[in-house]
Amino acid sequence: NDRTDRGDAQDASLAETQPLDGGLASIEHWIDGASVAGDGARSGPVYNPARGVEQKRVRFASTDDVDAAVQAAARAFPKWRDTSIAKRQQVMFAFRELLNARSGELAAILTSEHGKVLSDAAGEIARGLEVVELACAMPGYTKGEYSENVSTGIDVYSMRQPVGVVGIISPFNFPAMVPLWFFPLAIATGNTVVLKPSEKDPSAAIWLARLMQEAGLPDGVLNVVHGDKVAVDALLEHPVVRSISFVGSTPIAKYIYATATANGKRVQALGGAKNHMLVLPDADLDLAADAAVNAGFGSAGERCMAVSVVLAVDSVADELVEKISERMSRLTTGDGTRGCDMGPLITREHRDKVVGYLDVAKTDGATVVVDGRETPIDGDDDGFWLGPTLVDKVSLESSVYRDEIFGPVLGIVRVDGYQEGLDVINASPYGNGTAIFTNDGGAARRFQREVTVGMIGINVPIPVPVAYHSFGGWKDSLFGDAKAYGARGFDFYTQEKAVTSRWLDPSHGGLNLGFPQHD
Ligand code: NAD
Repeated sequence: NDRTDRGDAQDASLAETQPLDGGLASIEHWIDGASVAGDGARSGPVYNPARGVEQKRVRFASTDDVDAAVQAAARAFPKWRDTSIAKRQQVMFAFRELLNARSGELAAILTSEHGKVLSDAAGEIARGLEVVELACAMPGYTKGEYSENVSTGIDVYSMRQPVGVVGIISPFNFPAMVPLWFFPLAIATGNTVVLKPSEKDPSAAIWLARLMQEAGLPDGVLNVVHGDKVAVDALLEHPVVRSISFVGSTPIAKYIYATATANGKRVQALGGAKNHMLVLPDADLDLAADAAVNAGFGSAGERCMAVSVVLAVDSVADELVEKISERMSRLTTGDGTRGCDMGPLITREHRDKVVGYLDVAKTDGATVVVDGRETPIDGDDDGFWLGPTLVDKVSLESSVYRDEIFGPVLGIVRVDGYQEGLDVINASPYGNGTAIFTNDGGAARRFQREVTVGMIGINVPIPVPVAYHSFGGWKDSLFGDAKAYGARGFDFYTQEKAVTSRWLDPSHGGLNLGFPQHD
């Protein structure tokens, strides 16, 4: 592999080296603590979605490039595993301080490549930082258990050890936070990592890897390879990779789970979502309208915990729709560096696909109450724009309801009461997040017991659990049984060993072929 640049401890700028096609800077892989062009002949575009222009190229790893990263991680593993807990913790504390101090740089990268507005980018980083702080608390989560004298003179204890080289594959919509859900815990627990971020906005992952190096992480412990299915498949099939953490759409999550488990790996594969917000007639409708707008249009609806369907009980539906559309008229859409509320979508193709649902809505008999194509834009004409859009009276048969649109399109489905609302949510193949808005504690309590969804908000629209709980949905929103971060995250990145120990005691000698029993 062609090594183009040693990571400079003081320079966490992006890994940009030789220009590729058209003279654009190229984003390289990060292997063994250095920027690496690799031998992959392929590359892909990285846009600035607010300007609609290709601003960089990203290298696509070949199978050999992925192998180089895995081998670097495998070489680094024995030493990192044997590094004391105190020293591993010190790296995580140093990383936490650096990330906190320099989050502005990272936010600018997120806005430039993803398009989300700067304040939202700062929020994404803050939620990622939480998990770094959790990683600093690793010793308390991974210390073993000890039972003295389980049988006469015999003690049993268990310990948790790292699994080895772990793979992480992340989506475009949280280019910093989703990698931060995983690699801090994996590294703090003594694993080494190969991260394959989304090829649509890959620079954040490189920036984070360089910052880890600056925090004192030895080379090879955190490697980043860019690319598409070729790179992903190479990770899924590599015999040295012990586990896969994936976040992305449901069809790919299913594929990742099937392929990686068939290759003998432990897998957590988080998929897509269609999150419902049920508004009961006794809810505070102003609070509910604020929540629906914030959770529907934040990050242009490109969040796996976005509210995309409001289930409005008939008796309050008209009033709620009016309150939501009044709030939407106050939102500004445009370039994320200009203080707007909402930015562009990730690519032109995705924007066009989302816009296509507005025609489907009309054909399927829904009412487009607010049409985002008419929204004035504070940004370049060529940006990938669609303003906040509200569609009322969406039918459950329409693809506007069934598909994860992943854009600023909020659908209203009218229901006759609690039970119908609950039935709709439970019939959905997705089960990531949901919320109920009500002032009736009994209804809320029933809802939390009866709903088949992994994360529930009660008068809270985006119930992303704090770092010391765990994140993950049910049904087609999570394949595998391991949620992300929290105690489940530490479990996923460690394997338990149980030791049964007796120190020599002559009174226990003698032959006995029976199954061991306690005395
Ligand atoms: P995606 O599934 O297209 O891509 C995710 C990752 O998989 C990327 O790294 C991509 O390069 C790779 N990939 C894409 N196609 C592949 C293929 N055919 N074979 C192998 N790898 C492939 O998802 P996305 O568009 O980047 O992200 C948006 C999706 O992620 C939405 O569905 C959203 O709900 C979901 N998401 C879920 C969560 C969650 O916690 N459940 C969080 C964030 C995003």
